[in-house]
Amino acid sequence: MLPPGSTIGILGGGQLGRMMAMAAMQLGYRCIAYAPPGDNVAADACVDFFEKGWGDRAALAAFAAKCDVVTWEFENVPLAAVAAIPANLLACPARALEVAQDRLNEKRFIAELGGISAPFARVDSEDDFARAFDAVGTPGILKTARDGYDGKGQWRIPSAHEAHGLRFPGRSCIYEGLVEFETEFSVILVRTATGEVRFWDSTANRHEGGMLAQSVLPAGALVEAQVPAARELAAKTAAALQYVGVLTLEFFATRAGPVFNEMAPRVHNSGHWTIEGAATSQFENHIRAITGLPLGATTTRFASIDMRNIVGADALTAHRILAEAGEPHLHLYGKREAREGRKMGHVTRVGHALK
Ligand code: AMP
Repeated sequence: MLPPGSTIGILGGGQLGRMMAMAAMQLGYRCIAYAPPGDNVAADACVDFFEKGWGDRAALAAFAAKCDVVTWEFENVPLAAVAAIPANLLACPARALEVAQDRLNEKRFIAELGGISAPFARVDSEDDFARAFDAVGTPGILKTARDGYDGKGQWRIPSAHEAHGLRFPGRSCIYEGLVEFETEFSVILVRTATGEVRFWDSTANRHEGGMLAQSVLPAGALVEAQVPAARELAAKTAAALQYVGVLTLEFFATRAGPVFNEMAPRVHNSGHWTIEGAATSQFENHIRAITGLPLGATTTRFASIDMRNIVGADALTAHRILAEAGEPHLHLYGKREAREGRKMGHVTRVGHALK
């Protein structure tokens, strides 16, 4: 167990790191974070911040020298940067990042564990399009294999007609068949170094333009029926990766059962409701897992929960939410610029408390 006062290093500087650092502070830890220059809102909650490039090995070494354990809040940290951190400091093996950074790797990994994904084909050149459309059919979605997030690096292909004249984006891609789902849900778990696993309840997730907009509990009968199989796959994934901390798997709930979409080897936007809505939040249990503290209960505390993201300019008037009935819980991430499509905060509304 890491004694209080120890230093947790966070790779990445966004809101997930900020909320992680806030939870760590409550438990008596200090955080320092590392990320390239940008609107690094995690810095506000950290005692030190290295605003340096991922390729700066000297800076990474100086950062690591100050840490007792290192975690990440961003799954696209280059593997070379993670390799510059002494392995004994990493809370979780880097393999989890390696698998999750590439949509093709991720789907193959999940298939080996018995999970089902949308049909897909690899696209490495313009010539691959025809073969991919033939194999998978239309409609579908073309996605860059790496570095996509919040719907970026994705193109919907409604029919073979629209597929004509499509230009190869110049980077490895995956073409996926469009899944006809009833709703989307995520499984969020926390796993300790000794293999103890706990799950939070699965919310129904609604996306807008490829980005999470809302997470709701109860998630409905269809999701509830599919959660056991989805949890089994998530637990197998965590065990296979020797995972430590919070891991998220996203699913489509279809009439034929859960279809795996993607994994995030980190705390997740669809788990923000756990701050007020669960006995222990995803952020706190992540910190507990990586520092060797006992895990907290993950039980839901309210009969209903509704978490909505605050995106772009909506953040400028978000304080009005505080005047609404029902004691909404407002979180703003302190980002300097309210750019369109940018996650600026979230609000969680809870129903009556469960006994
Ligand atoms: P992703 O970045 O892969 O999580 O995609 C973002 C969102 O786009 C998902 O949460 C879905 O709402 C939608 N989406 C992505 N892939 C598919 C698919 N194969 N079929 C249907 N919807 C999809």
